[in-house]
Amino acid sequence: MKRILLAGILATAICMKVIPVMAQKTKTENIVVVTLDGMRWQEIFGGADIQLLNNKKYTKDSAGTSSRFWNDTLEQRRKKLFPFFWSEIAVKGQLYGNRRYNNKVDNANPYKFSYPGYNEIFTGFPDITVNSNDKIANKNTHVLEFIGKQPGFKGKIAAFATWDAFPYILNKQRSNIYVNADADSLLFPSEKLKLINDLQYLTTRPIGVRPDVITYLAAREYLKEYKPRALYIAFDETDDYAHGGEYDQYLKAAHAQDKMIADLWHYLQSDPNYANKTTLLITTDHGRGDKVKDEWRHHGQKVEDAGQIWIAAIGPDTRAIGEVTTAGQLYQQQIAATLARLLGLRFTAEHPVADPIPSIFTK
Ligand SMILES: [Zn+2]
Repeated sequence: MKRILLAGILATAICMKVIPVMAQKTKTENIVVVTLDGMRWQEIFGGADIQLLNNKKYTKDSAGTSSRFWNDTLEQRRKKLFPFFWSEIAVKGQLYGNRRYNNKVDNANPYKFSYPGYNEIFTGFPDITVNSNDKIANKNTHVLEFIGKQPGFKGKIAAFATWDAFPYILNKQRSNIYVNADADSLLFPSEKLKLINDLQYLTTRPIGVRPDVITYLAAREYLKEYKPRALYIAFDETDDYAHGGEYDQYLKAAHAQDKMIADLWHYLQSDPNYANKTTLLITTDHGRGDKVKDEWRHHGQKVEDAGQIWIAAIGPDTRAIGEVTTAGQLYQQQIAATLARLLGLRFTAEHPVADPIPSIFTK
């Protein structure tokens, strides 16, 4: 009888498929995610492209732009464009996606444009029904929303975005997290934030939404004041300038994004709420084509290489292996579970969630 009972209990346990929310303990107590919209791996790992720099159609001031971003040595060249990536992350963190070493990161979704990409990053699910950039409230539960429901994280999740589709992508209405996008008012009781709010209304808005620097400063001041435990910053200028065929502006936007990420990381390391217990993960929603036939400007289903992306990470659980130079294949859909796992959580949702990337959180 005892044996039958035991067998019954075991069978029930197996059938119930009990998946605990808590995973193994990590040092990470806070996560910060930054995305650089449509930033190519080619520039991340190779720096500025000489042919695009010398093409007057794409780079009006070739001499000036080259003097800022060109160097004959690849290592120096990429460091000129992304000094934080190549002086800090390359030394203390990890960089995935250099296809010269056959180290690959790809979209799992077939669309290779923004909303499907951001959906894949945060839901861990390359939902094929998410197939437009229209401002439709996302039906899929995302990892920031999931984290916000865990003990100790309530009211501690915030997202700041340049692109005004993010309140829909992150389903601001349902998810119960703070989402601030484009010219949303920054209604905080602080003089500094009032100034940033004025700035976003008074700026020339060269790409039709507020500039990335305003998104960044709003996020930074919010961080200082409200101490979120999960913060997301979505930059956008790189994609807009690339679509416009302005390679010089694309490089300048990328460089400014790197500087803002450096500023953010240095702030995090100076604040006892974050220092040595915060992981920063940086990635992109999609890649772009190669330089043939104008394709560096574009992305989408018809552009062959546009699903090629990259991931960078730095934090107390991330081994300092720098640029990953071994062959491998990662997918964007693995990021959501990785973010949860860094916080010692196991992300589950009503849809399938891809496995995390163990090398980011395994010492
Ligand atoms: Zn785009």
